[in-house]
Amino acid sequence: MGSRMSSWGLCINCTWWQIEPAATLASTTHGRCIEQSLQPCLLRVSGGSGCGLFVGGEPARVEGAAACPPAAKPTR
Ligand code: SF4
Repeated sequence: MGSRMSSWGLCINCTWWQIEPAATLASTTHGRCIEQSLQPCLLRVSGGSGCGLFVGGEPARVEGAAACPPAAKPTR
């Protein structure tokens, strides 16, 4: 396993997850991943998604985070 696997975690618990202001914290809620290296991808992920760039924390809340593609600018 590579070093990135050691920090694998779920979007719902990740500081890089950006969701709508009134969104419920749930595995089925969708939002943007604003991890810096992934920002060009406009990656849209659900709370039950996850990856090895996980950093634990509270999600950011911004209007447009759940649009297709995400319309919110990264706030972190
Ligand atoms: S895709 Fe990875 S970095 Fe992005 S919010 Fe989910 S766990 Fe965090």
